[in-house]
Amino acid sequence: MSDTELVSTEPATGAFLWRGTCGNVDAEVARARASWAAWAAQPLSYRAEALRRFSNVVRARAEDFADLIARETGKPLWEARGEVEAVMAKVDIAISAFAERTGQRRLDAQMGSRLALRHKPHGVLAVLVPYNLPAEIANGHIVPALLAGNAVVFKPSEKTPATGAYLVDCYRAAGIPEGCVRLLIGGPETGQALAEHPRIDGLLFTGSARTGLALNRRFAEHPEKILALEMGGNNPILVWDTPDLYTAAVLVVQSAFLSAGQRCTAARRLIVDQRLADPLLEQVNALIDRMILDGPHADPAPFMGPMIDNDAADRLTERFLTLSGKGGRPIRYLERPVEGRPFLTPALIDMTETSERPDAEVFGPLLQVIRAESFEAAVAEANNTRYGLCATLVSQDPRRYDAFWANIRAGIINWNRPTIGTSPKAPFGGLGWSGNHRPGGFYAADHCAYPVTSSEAEQARASIGVGLRDG
Ligand code: NAD
Repeated sequence: MSDTELVSTEPATGAFLWRGTCGNVDAEVARARASWAAWAAQPLSYRAEALRRFSNVVRARAEDFADLIARETGKPLWEARGEVEAVMAKVDIAISAFAERTGQRRLDAQMGSRLALRHKPHGVLAVLVPYNLPAEIANGHIVPALLAGNAVVFKPSEKTPATGAYLVDCYRAAGIPEGCVRLLIGGPETGQALAEHPRIDGLLFTGSARTGLALNRRFAEHPEKILALEMGGNNPILVWDTPDLYTAAVLVVQSAFLSAGQRCTAARRLIVDQRLADPLLEQVNALIDRMILDGPHADPAPFMGPMIDNDAADRLTERFLTLSGKGGRPIRYLERPVEGRPFLTPALIDMTETSERPDAEVFGPLLQVIRAESFEAAVAEANNTRYGLCATLVSQDPRRYDAFWANIRAGIINWNRPTIGTSPKAPFGGLGWSGNHRPGGFYAADHCAYPVTSSEAEQARASIGVGLRDG
């Protein structure tokens, strides 16, 4: 990356993929500012129709789009196809969410007046997103924002700019006015300049807690601006009371290693009944032994691909060494099977005997194992984090799930399901350092528009009943 241009390469091969010019923040914000009022003045049905056309454009280009996402992220093609499906599905979901969560309604009628609740867009919203679901997460912010009548300045991750550019091209091809979705190519400094720009009305952010906390500090001086933060997690998966250790192992492997562990909802800690730990780990190990780690288009299809780049793979390797240095006992080492490329084999490290377990998100295929003596101790361990995005219990005992549900602190609590793979029809967000209580997904509608309450009468009729002298 230079100051003026960004180059994207394929993680799996190192091949050149895309080159683009870095954008000008002032210019992009100004374009969006000039456009949003006309867009907001259109009837909702007009904006909904434009977005439905966008969904059709994506459908027509679905295979090309999935191919690009797979190349740019390194994720398997089957997974990239799922991401494109989610992009298409978002439009109808956002339309339902707008009607259900925001929209407009008559509340009351009294003495010839009516009380109405309606929602207005904020104006110009900045959108900053990570690299791991570069189309789905960006679109998950942009579609509800546009539907509500905002204009958007969207900065894709510097690691996946080609996917960001392709997504914006799809909005354009659907006839959404150019000024309403501005593409801003650039790195973290560009993101910072956009976030600090005086002429944005808010920021929709998905990314790391480190960046999110910095943004939160800056926005503390701007209560007039909306800030929605979706950040990471240090997510636990608990295994208790289950005779079917093979299925438990499948759930653990899916939770920890799909997308090479590069999911905000990925399980980072396996907390397991100490009596089940060894046989469960045997099953997990057996599954990892069979796992195909390969490039996105490989045949047979891989379970997972590489990490996004060598820096990310190096950082994860350092993290593994740090955990070992703190007393973690390696069960399975991280290996780099392809010279010079960021492929990493899944790793397991037993942290049971370590008193100092770092509470940090480990963003890659590395799972920490903690053996617990009692269910209460396991839940306490699961809650031993500043984050609170998601948590899974694997257990055949419904009373355990009741206790888990009541005591665990997380925005997504699952039972006998992987930690990853939440429904777009539900809100999506977490507690603590995982967000700022502005969940996305179905509830994204809430932060894309603000409520306006109006007491209205077509004719002015008023009388003061008490407190006046006869006159
Ligand atoms: P990141 O925080 O490094 O970057 C996210 C975006 O912010 C990028 O566009 C980046 O250019 C920009 N950015 C970086 N520093 C900035 C700054 N100081 N000011 C303004 N913008 C800045 O995150 P990442 O490494 O790309 O993505 C991985 C992270 O995203 C993980 O922590 C993961 O858990 C999180 N994530 C969260 C969710 C969720 O919905 N909660 C979903 C996916 C990923």
